Amino acid sequence: MKIFTTRKQIQEYLLAIGNKKIGFVPTLGALHNGHLSLIKQAKQGNDIVVCSIFVNPTQFNDPKDLENYPRPIESDIAKLSAVDCDILFNPGVTEIYDDNEQWHLNIGQLEFLLEGEFRPGHYQGVTQVVYKLLDIVKPTALYMGQKDYQQFLVVSKMVEIFKLPVKMVMCPIEREPEGLAMSSRNIHLSADDRQHALILSKTLNWVKANFDIKNVYNLELEAMNMLQAEPGVEPEYFELADGKTLLPANESSQTIVALTAARIGKTRLIDNMLMV
Ligand code: AMP
Repeated sequence: MKIFTTRKQIQEYLLAIGNKKIGFVPTLGALHNGHLSLIKQAKQGNDIVVCSIFVNPTQFNDPKDLENYPRPIESDIAKLSAVDCDILFNPGVTEIYDDNEQWHLNIGQLEFLLEGEFRPGHYQGVTQVVYKLLDIVKPTALYMGQKDYQQFLVVSKMVEIFKLPVKMVMCPIEREPEGLAMSSRNIHLSADDRQHALILSKTLNWVKANFDIKNVYNLELEAMNMLQAEPGVEPEYFELADGKTLLPANESSQTIVALTAARIGKTRLIDNMLMV
């Protein structure tokens, strides 16, 4: 695997190898099998796969979260090599940003719903960094996880606004055997937290099992009650949303997704599941 830390290096290399189908997987690192499933999927449809590891400061609304974000670069490199990733792009902050850079993109209500409400500015930071990374890598296809469902819609919207020549591919959520969605933040969970965190996937499964039986109002209410009843869990939201707009689901919604976020101890986790 080639490892590049500057734009110049990676751009020169990509130019030299010529016209190849490039699959791109941007990450914040602390890689787990969820990330690696994206690399594997990207390997299947492309000539080469580029993964980026960049803990992007502009998407963190909480400085403590940024500071505590895990950065195990050596083991990340070993994991990427083991799945035959071709290129790792691992730039420092000054390689990506100039001082006092400004960015704002109007992505409509997607910016303010759900995650946007609890993480103000988060999606501006996400679009800012993904735009820059796409400009550097110029991939054929961009692989992102359903785990961050709203992020996928936000980036798709940006791709549409700028008419970027990249295909968006959504990859399914990888879970631990007991149901917990894999996340780099799971390493902050104590053994007890980890047990309590199972309530997220349990509740999503319960809502899915009852989706044809109960109405949306009752499903959301009972789901919030289930989450609140679990010790150590503070739910932020549980919503059944239209899979395209993330507005409340209605009769004309062709896909409906249940999305949730909760604090478990000091750790904030998100999860979601497609209903129809
Ligand atoms: P992150 O490093 O958390 O920014 O994640 C990088 C990419 O991996 C994003 O597209 C995520 O949606 C995706 N991802 C994170 N966790 C999972 C998971 N459990 N299953 C599948 N994809 C995931």
